[in-house]
Formats: sequence, structure tokens, C-alpha cells
Amino acid sequence: MEQKGSVLMQRYEFGKLLGQGTFAKVYHARNLITGMSVAIKVVDKEKVLKVGMVHQIKREISVMRLIRHPHVVELYEVIASKTKIYFVMEYAKGGELFNKVVKGKLKLDVARKYFLQLINAVDYCHSRGVCHRDLKPENLLLDENDNLKVSDFGLSSLAESKRQDGLLHTTCGTPAYVAPEVINRKGYEGMKADIWSCGVILFVLLAGHLPFQDSNLMEMYRKIGKGEFKFPKWFAPDVRRLLSKILDTNPRTRISIAKIMESSWFKNGLQKPTSITIGNEDLAPLDSDDRVFEVCENGGPIPESKQKQPKPTNFNAFDIISFSTGFDLSGLFEDNVLKKEMRFMSKKPASVIVSKLEEICKWLQLKVSKKDGGLFKLERSKEGRKGILGIDAEIFEITPHFHMVELRKCNGDTMEYQKIFKQDIRPALDDIVWTWQGDQPQQLQQKVVQQEEQQQPSNT
Ligand code: ATP
Ligand code: MG
Repeated sequence: MEQKGSVLMQRYEFGKLLGQGTFAKVYHARNLITGMSVAIKVVDKEKVLKVGMVHQIKREISVMRLIRHPHVVELYEVIASKTKIYFVMEYAKGGELFNKVVKGKLKLDVARKYFLQLINAVDYCHSRGVCHRDLKPENLLLDENDNLKVSDFGLSSLAESKRQDGLLHTTCGTPAYVAPEVINRKGYEGMKADIWSCGVILFVLLAGHLPFQDSNLMEMYRKIGKGEFKFPKWFAPDVRRLLSKILDTNPRTRISIAKIMESSWFKNGLQKPTSITIGNEDLAPLDSDDRVFEVCENGGPIPESKQKQPKPTNFNAFDIISFSTGFDLSGLFEDNVLKKEMRFMSKKPASVIVSKLEEICKWLQLKVSKKDGGLFKLERSKEGRKGILGIDAEIFEITPHFHMVELRKCNGDTMEYQKIFKQDIRPALDDIVWTWQGDQPQQLQQKVVQQEEQQQPSNT
């Protein structure tokens, strides 16, 4: 229990307990420097260690830093002590959406507004390779303007560890929102499972009760597995059609988010804002060139001119997840198969990365020239077997203190590139690299542990 009034990292003053989940307690807190309210989720490390999910959580934290969306609770900072992990996040003042539903079903337009916001948030996160895996009422919060904020996005390994622990079947209560393939432990695709949960949520918003409900847990599982539910009589044909496609027990044929967004019921919500505004502002992401635009506005890719450089949107979900150590991508990044592009993450500011690159070039007698954005060209002065060796180095800002750097051969002989890269460039970059793409878990683990030791919070 965090004492009210105690201060974390000389910055966050703990306030009242907002809620409690399986692994965590969530407190209101105040940032003493800015005066801003935040929510701090305190996770007991030991519980997480017990189920062996630490590395996945670390990976997810770095991915979560890339997630910024008006309908996703933002993660500001993560602090670790010896026994606890503190997730400092955006405070959702309006509390849980479902406090409204317990009072009865919502009006059609109100339910649709929340569903639109939910689908936009889920679509955005999926586009970045992040699944929720634990979409349920406790994770749907409201801000002071009555807009939806999905919480716990990116913490799916916490959800997963509950499952491994068997908690899903015991303490963490109802499996009412969980997709059949998850219950059957068949191995499942997180994105498809999220879509199912969105369907259950929509049903509950419109009906005021769960689609699959039974006082007997086994009976509930059976109903979920069979997709056995009844629509209340006030459900219109268009929403029945949509829900039937979402609550399809076969994840392979279950409707995709893109198709949900194309459905007439969903689109009606976009076209006919009623007393509840579903203006563009509501749906637009914080960053004007964020990918959610692709779906909200024109369905096509963002024109190059609209993209600011350097931006995290320049790499795709695959790039992001391939930094992680939890996915089995080893075949792609085996040591002897040096790829043309190599990427690393750095916790140094761009200026430090640039100086390092310049220093290495000086040492290796490479000519360095700056192109536009964060792009640098490194070139050998003498011709090699296949002309002059040229390497592009591109720096992408994720946050001012977190960058991704991509190095790729753009000209010359591959063998020559591999040699200089392996022997000289990579080792020389060591002190600015946080992690190389495809690094082995062990290497990453060591770095994280070192960093953690340097970052022990005070006063907790
Ligand atoms: P679990 O995470 O174990 O699946 P949960 O979602 O109920 O379950 P927590 O995520 O620990 O548990 O959150 C507990 C409660 O704290 C939430 O249900 C919500 O009421 C409150 N809460 C969580 N995050 C915030 C936030 N950012 N702002 C305001 N309240 C929050
Ligand atoms: Mg939660």
C-alpha cells in the first residue's frame, strides 16, 4: 500500500486509491512539478516474476512509448524499484465507463460514440503491432469530457500472465469478455481476440447485460464456445448483423476492424453526430500525421508531404515488434546473416547520436554528409570491388530521449559493408546503443538490469 502523501522520485505525490486489479493497485497522484494529476499503477514485481513475464513487460513498455492516441490512456513514465514497477499514466477523471452501464443500457448514439472511440483506439494500437488482450469494462475509462480512454493497452503480458497463472479462471473473475479461442487455450491471435471483446462490450453497452452469462462458470464457457447468445428485441437489424460478425467463434472468419469501420452501423455514427459530438476532433489523433488518419479520413497512405521527419510513423509495426525479445524472429536475425539494414534503439538525444556517428566516420576515414531530416550518408573515399561503399544512417525520434537509428548499405559491395559494420561500426556504437534489433534476450536483460540499478527511486 502506498502511503497517501508519500512521494515517488521526488516528483509524484500519492493520493487516494483509485482501484485495484489482479496484479496492481492504482492511485491518484500529483506531479509536484507541473501540478498535473496522474494515475500510478503499482505492480508488485514479485508477482510478475513468479509468472516469468518480466522481459515481455519491459519490451511492452518500450512499445507503449510509441502509442499516443486520444482514446488510449497515455503512459508517461515507468519507474522501477527493487520490489515494484510504477506505471505513471494519464489520469482518467471520469472513472469507469461501466459505472454508467450498471445504471442501465445506454442510448444508441451514446453507445455508438463509445464504440467508435474504442474501435479507433484498438485499430490504432493494432496498426502498431500492439494488442490489448484484456479489453473489459475495468479498462474502459472516461476523461472529464466524457470521452473514452482505453487503459492497459500494451500491457498484454500482464493479461497473459494471468492466464498462465490460471487466474483467469479464479481470482480475476469473469471470462465474459474473453474470446472462445482464448478460453480453449488453443493459441490465438491477440488482434482477433480483441475484436471479440469489442463485440461483447458493444453488446453490453446497448443491452445493459452480458451476451454470455451464467451463474455456472462452466456453462458460461460453453455458451462462449458456441457463440450462444440472444439479441434483446430492441436491437436493430444493422447492429445485429454487425454483432453476429464480431461474435463469430471462428477467429479466421471473424470480421476485421477495417470491415467493422465499413459497416453501415458504424458509418452512421460518423455521419450523423447528434447531441453527442463525434466531431473530427474526437477521432483525430494527437499527432496530425498519425496513422489513424489513414483509416478515419481516406483509407489510403499519408502523402509523403504530410509526414514530418523524423517520426516514429516511418517504421511499421513489424519494425517495432522486432526489437522485442519475446517474439521468435531469431531466424531473421541470425548472426551470420547480416541484413542490409540494421537498427538499434538509443536512449541518447539526437545530438549525441550524430556526434558519435561523426566521430566514427572520422576514425574510419569515411566522408559524412547530411541529407534532409535525420538522414546521413557515410561514404568511403576509395572505390571498392563494386564501387564506392555508401551507408545511409537515419535517425528517427521516438521521444526526445529515445531514438531508433537505421543503418543500411546504399552502395558498394555487401561483403565490404558486412566487414566494416561488424568489425568497426557496431562495436564503436556500443556506448550509445540501448538495444540492437534482434538482440538476444540475455544481452537486453543485462542492459535493463544495469539501467534499473542506476534508477532506484527515492522515498517510496
Ligand atoms: P487488471 O489490470 O488486473 O486486469 P483492472 O483493470 O481492474 O484489472 P487495474 O488496471 O489495476 O485493474 O485498475 C484498477 C482500477 O483503477 C480500474 O478499474 C480503474 O477504476 C482505476 N484506474 C486504472 N487506471 C486509471 C487511470 N489511468 N485513471 C483513473 N483510474 C484508473
Ligand atoms: Mg486495468
